[in-house]
Amino acid sequence: MTGPFIWWHSRYDDQVHAFPLAQITEVGRGMLAARCHHATPRDLIVDTADGMRCFRCLLLVDAVESPARVTPAW
Ligand SMILES: [Zn+2]
Repeated sequence: MTGPFIWWHSRYDDQVHAFPLAQITEVGRGMLAARCHHATPRDLIVDTADGMRCFRCLLLVDAVESPARVTPAW
């Protein structure tokens, strides 16, 4: 899954995850699945990027959006 992501706080596990924008705009979707596959009810999403970011989301989103940061070993 690729595309624009937004960092939102999940009260479900008290971490900030990267959620795909496409899911957020989907009408009638009760559960949102973050990039790391953390699933949380929409009601528990807080519209803020403040807090501890999910390590898996950081790795996965960073790999997609910032390929230039990957330095070859040679
Ligand atoms: Zn996550």
